[in-house]
Amino acid sequence: MPENLKSELSPSFTFSQSSLQDYFDCPRRFQLRYIEHLAWPAVETEPVLENERRQQEGQLFHRMVQQHLVGLPVEKLTRLANSPDISRWWENYLNYKFELDGYSKYTELALNAPSGSHRLLAKYDLVAILPGHKAIIFDWKTYHKRPKDEWMAVRMQTRVYRALLVQAGAYLNGGLPIQPGLVEMVYWYADFPSEPARFPYNATQYKRDWDTMTGLINEIGNHRSFPLTEDDKKCAYCPYRSYCDRGGKAGALDDSDAEMETAAAEFNLYFEQIAEIEF
Ligand code: SF4
Repeated sequence: MPENLKSELSPSFTFSQSSLQDYFDCPRRFQLRYIEHLAWPAVETEPVLENERRQQEGQLFHRMVQQHLVGLPVEKLTRLANSPDISRWWENYLNYKFELDGYSKYTELALNAPSGSHRLLAKYDLVAILPGHKAIIFDWKTYHKRPKDEWMAVRMQTRVYRALLVQAGAYLNGGLPIQPGLVEMVYWYADFPSEPARFPYNATQYKRDWDTMTGLINEIGNHRSFPLTEDDKKCAYCPYRSYCDRGGKAGALDDSDAEMETAAAEFNLYFEQIAEIEF
């Protein structure tokens, strides 16, 4: 394990669902990733190439959907589907009735707001708004197994995305604050198109979430020690295993929720660098 780890977070650090999730899962992982900025020294999941392929396919699918939502023709985008997985997801997407007539659609929307002594940022696949009636957050997931709704309900993503839309989304709603009761988060699973996970919201949940996030952000900002998680299942797919003496062998995709965990972290990094598709 490295000695003399830094423990002070940069005052300009911007939090995201991913960094909060890392802290929640393991304070040491947060420290290594966001304070020490350590490269990822270990493979997160086995088999490596299979995992990489899945990530790349997921990224391409996200780009295709985004480009479709901003009006590029289906025929042109369909030609990009260069694997059986992407073709299947794309077909499922095109066949699904999202029923968003009349909604204003914001793709790859970034919202941020001050929270405690830092800022909190979220990047959304799609926010669909019918002013005064409904605000739906869509997130596309290309997991090969459908996660349990209970697992998704407590993810930081579910909590941060809904709360930040309420906190910072007024400009999407004709300048009026978005009432928590109008917000819904939908995870649409490309391999399970008829089983999206839907998470409505209310004022009590919003207050709980915002207070929790602000509290967590302040806690992290004031922390001087970042202990290793006591739940060593979290280490199986963590890239810092070698730093922590928590085993050299990566977890297998099918062993646990590693696919979802890994995909969530990877995708957040990808999303920050997303580029337009060139034709
Ligand atoms: S290997 Fe385990 S203890 Fe170390 S950072 Fe990763 S999750 Fe935390």
